[in-house]
Amino acid sequence: MEMLLHSYKITRTLPCLADPEKIRVIAEISDEIHEAFPYLNATLKGCIYNHPALTLTIKKDGKLFTLHAHHITLAKIEDEKEAEEILGWLRDFINETYGKRDQIEPNYSKGENLRALDIFRLLPGTSCKKCGELTCLAFAVRLVGQEIEVAKCIPLFSETFREKRKVLVELLHAAGFNVT
Ligand code: SF4
Repeated sequence: MEMLLHSYKITRTLPCLADPEKIRVIAEISDEIHEAFPYLNATLKGCIYNHPALTLTIKKDGKLFTLHAHHITLAKIEDEKEAEEILGWLRDFINETYGKRDQIEPNYSKGENLRALDIFRLLPGTSCKKCGELTCLAFAVRLVGQEIEVAKCIPLFSETFREKRKVLVELLHAAGFNVT
């Protein structure tokens, strides 16, 4: 079988900010994999594909896997053992899909949009009203509708919420939002 991705290595394990009982895992990968993204996007349901930024976010079993050209991040993971299993599955799936690319119509569309709830979980959650909205959920709804900028949530840009902000900005970028 033609191999696009040969190996991966877990390089960082962090608390998962979307779910405090889970972990977030970053793995460096041996090869560039972005050529497979439009074929994976065509094969899997519910992906968020950002073609210009070369990221593909896969939602599977309530977990989030974001593929970048040179690394993979996994969110809402139980432990390193589960991360290794998912990375093994991803490597095989990427290689199988890439090997069959002549039979797959590539899909370059952005795919499923972000949900307000995905955004809400990454906001401070204090409903302080500094953004002009009554609650963080109302802010999330307006943000997902691109009616307000993420920068309006001033508390999110404090040191306390640095990690949440990183994940949220990553998700917004992956979904093709213009984040300044
Ligand atoms: S400023 Fe941020 S924390 Fe405060 S209500 Fe708006 S979204 Fe929530």
